[in-house]
Amino acid sequence: MTPEQVLKDNFGFTKFRNGQEAVISRVMAGKNVLAVMPTGGGKSLCYQIPALVNSGVTIVVSPLISLMKDQVDALKQNGIAAAAINSTIPQEAVNPILRQAYEGKVKLIYVTPERLNMEYFRYQLNFLPVDLIAIDEAHCISQWGHDFRPAYRQLRSAIAGLRSQPNTLALTATATPTVREDIGHQLGIDPANFVITSFTRPNITFRVVHPENSTRCYIREYLTAHRDEAGIIYVNTRKGVDELTAYLLEHHFPVAAYHAGMDPADRARVQDDFQFDRVNTIVATSAFGMGIDKSNVRFVLHATSAQNIESYYQEAGRAGRDGLPSEAVLIYHPNDLRQYRWFIDQSTADDDYRDRQYQKLQAVANYASTPECLQQYIVRYFGQDCPPCGHCSNCTDERTVQDITAESQAVLKLVQELHGRFGKGVVAQAATGSHNQRMQEIGAPSLANFGALQKLTKQAAASLIDYLVAIGVLKTAGAQYPVIQVGKRGWAVLEGEQTVTRRQEKSPDRSRTQVEE
Ligand code: ADP
Ligand code: ZN
Repeated sequence: MTPEQVLKDNFGFTKFRNGQEAVISRVMAGKNVLAVMPTGGGKSLCYQIPALVNSGVTIVVSPLISLMKDQVDALKQNGIAAAAINSTIPQEAVNPILRQAYEGKVKLIYVTPERLNMEYFRYQLNFLPVDLIAIDEAHCISQWGHDFRPAYRQLRSAIAGLRSQPNTLALTATATPTVREDIGHQLGIDPANFVITSFTRPNITFRVVHPENSTRCYIREYLTAHRDEAGIIYVNTRKGVDELTAYLLEHHFPVAAYHAGMDPADRARVQDDFQFDRVNTIVATSAFGMGIDKSNVRFVLHATSAQNIESYYQEAGRAGRDGLPSEAVLIYHPNDLRQYRWFIDQSTADDDYRDRQYQKLQAVANYASTPECLQQYIVRYFGQDCPPCGHCSNCTDERTVQDITAESQAVLKLVQELHGRFGKGVVAQAATGSHNQRMQEIGAPSLANFGALQKLTKQAAASLIDYLVAIGVLKTAGAQYPVIQVGKRGWAVLEGEQTVTRRQEKSPDRSRTQVEE
């Protein structure tokens, strides 16, 4: 059987998607390959097809047991013999699976990385003709990624110890150039065999909203306008999910909640109801979505922000897998990031790791404040480029452009007067001329530019600072307690060589941004 035949006969698809053929042909040629494709891009087929074409067995390393079960079930439905071996499978069921694999009756075995690292399991595998090791969510191997998982680190030596010398296929949806290099380095994959497909999702309209009223009002209006469409609303805590669900039910929106604190039967029911269109809107934590294969999701709202662009794009990317127009809306509230910052503060991870998490948070803040195309911002974050999408909330922003060079210069001078030693809250207070003890302590009232933006509220000044950071006029330095300093573009602005513009805010004192401290 050829890959094309398997595509048609086993999966019922007529043609390969972008990147699939390039990956499969390299895998079939015995190369180690890294496939970077966006969520929904069709990564699974990249190893499932070789698994069926090859004579031996394919081992799929997958980080989540719940995800494994879904994939095995889906394959079985397509008449493909697959099995999972993990801690939920009783030991006495493992040997029969391996025997079936030996007899060619099981072609794919899903395991956790921990399992493949077990010496006894590898001893057992050595009785099988293993052709290929597919490593899903391969970014977990890198400390630079957002989901580092130590067991991934040992995979290379585990694979090298297998008698049948299988080749490796690493797959991920989220890899910045650094992570890619790291994956390649750690798994022995030549960059010539990196297959990286476009990260753009042209059918998704990205929006950032800074709700004028409450987030809840915004969601109600949104749901009213999108009544018959399937959508997911992400909230970052279980409690938040329960509260928003109760609120929406009270207002007669037929939504269902999903989070990892619910009992498994309830979760399975909600997932099914969504899959089969019995419930249109799910309010969920990030636990919802992995392994959900619903193609007609029309919108993904983030009622609270994700904590990095990687997760945001993965979750937002669950919209519009069918290629039809869809929306991904980030309802941005700086307090969400403040909460994440606190979590990172509390974590016991090493400093490098924490610094990277702080940087990732800053990238989310910049996403929420950038005037540039949102799709372009995301794609550039992942080390690629694309032209402006033409339909995101920035590309279609029709508010008049204002020259804010004078205000920007005032803030820049103030930042210099403060010697770049203070955070956004202090700079905003000094810019608006707040009179409080903190200002006295640092001698702010005697600075030339103290109160230079008196006409703005503190919130508006903080929002201006966010904006100036997002466009590189200012920058943040230091991770845990970021201070505001003059950015790359700031020097030219101070010299009067560059002007700064911004879309006009609806009303100058609207609390578009809340001060973090
Ligand atoms: P990923 O793992 O990259 O997020 P999946 O492998 O789950 O994506 O695939 C997403 C969806 O696309 C699935 O419903 C899958 O059946 C479908 N799909 C994959 N490849 C093709 C193809 N060549 N033609 C049509 N549909 C495809
Ligand atoms: Zn755009």
